[in-house]
Amino acid sequence: MKISIPAPAEEIIGKLNEYGYEAYVVGGCVRDMMLGREPGDWDITTSALPDQVKQVFRRTVDTGIQHGTVTVMMGNEGYEVTTYRIDGEYSDGRHPNHVEFTPNLAEDLKRRDFTINAMAYNSRTGFVDEFGGAEDLKKGIIRCVGEPMDRFTEDALRILRAIRFSAQLGFLIEDRTYEAIRKIAPNMVHVSKERIQTELTKLLLSSHPGHMELVYETGISSYVSDAFHRAYWREEEAGKVPASFQSAVERTDRRVPLIPASIAPEKHMRWAGFLRRCTPDHAEAVLKDLKLDNDTINKAKTLVHWQGTRITPDKHSIRVVMSRMEPDLFDDLLSLKMCLAEPDLKTGEPRPETGEELELIARLAEEIRCRGDCISLKTLAVSGHDIMEAGVKPGKEVGAALAGLLEFVLEDPKRNTREILLQYLGSGQ
Ligand code: ATP
Ligand code: MG
Repeated sequence: MKISIPAPAEEIIGKLNEYGYEAYVVGGCVRDMMLGREPGDWDITTSALPDQVKQVFRRTVDTGIQHGTVTVMMGNEGYEVTTYRIDGEYSDGRHPNHVEFTPNLAEDLKRRDFTINAMAYNSRTGFVDEFGGAEDLKKGIIRCVGEPMDRFTEDALRILRAIRFSAQLGFLIEDRTYEAIRKIAPNMVHVSKERIQTELTKLLLSSHPGHMELVYETGISSYVSDAFHRAYWREEEAGKVPASFQSAVERTDRRVPLIPASIAPEKHMRWAGFLRRCTPDHAEAVLKDLKLDNDTINKAKTLVHWQGTRITPDKHSIRVVMSRMEPDLFDDLLSLKMCLAEPDLKTGEPRPETGEELELIARLAEEIRCRGDCISLKTLAVSGHDIMEAGVKPGKEVGAALAGLLEFVLEDPKRNTREILLQYLGSGQ
């Protein structure tokens, strides 16, 4: 098997070779290429020391020079070139105390987390696969390089990475690796919320978002945050957690999906889908604990609220809901409700609307949009200025008056004329 490396990466490797150094693409990109997936980034590993890399290339950035990483700029693109290294002792359960450079590729591969992530490739040598990564890829297995307990004790982030890769690749976690995850779960306290969030979001955006259940079943969830733990965990499950990954996944697959994979793979959609049984405030607390960005938090919170609230399939009610959010988010809400209708029907979980009602709502919403009904202050026939001219005192009252007028127009869009609205205002409503 040969893999095709992007020309700039090939050029970097060639140039390093010219100067007498070894260089390979390594890690995730080799894994993804072998699987026929598009790699997110191309990491290069080399025997050259960081200063030597900087001498070979004209344009470089010191990205993580103390860990041996230099970014080499090729046109507008940067490629991370990292010196072969051995990680020193780990004393905080997350980062090595120091790193040591080595001229030996095998040493560098040994520090990597899973066999499928520990392969290197260049067109001269072909694949370097010291730990059976290709075999595990073929079998669909995630297995630690070396002793799982040691590897997770060194760096607890690997615990979540294992579950995230199982969700992205649809792979099994090998028994001893899984057993170690369940034992070492409390070490998750060493991992920052930002890193946990990145992994959980990748997991949710994957083709097996239901593997989120494993975050609970392995005992990780209570170390993420209290709000996160309470979001899904049911204490009565505690004694029933399967010991092997295989049986845990089979059980998950047998059950109605926790998060249907039909939900659009966007952050706010998948997080809202996962948190749908929470109150909006609880969902917000979970997302804040995990330091998600405000835009995602706000959208997900709005979706969590409305996905559980009935929209009556008539135009007035629909306009009211539409007026409470951006147009795109309303479409997301309908799409989320549709994705949740089926699984919840299966479990007997009550849904606020039937499938047919949702289709009717979507049709009516389309009509509302085509007709251009006013659903926001932006298209209201009067402005704050008009209202003040009509005698409303500047300040909070203007906002309240405008909001009242919008509600009046949402009931009947024909009311959206200056004349009717000023008259309504004058009538003291
Ligand atoms: P993706 O980029 O799809 O998230 P990846 O495997 O490429 O997955 P990166 O974080 O880009 O992950 O890391 C690149 C490589 O570095 C990995 O493939 C692995 O070899 C190594 N690696 C990353 N994080 C760790 C870790 N916590 N412990 C050990 N090795 C790691
Ligand atoms: Mg990567």
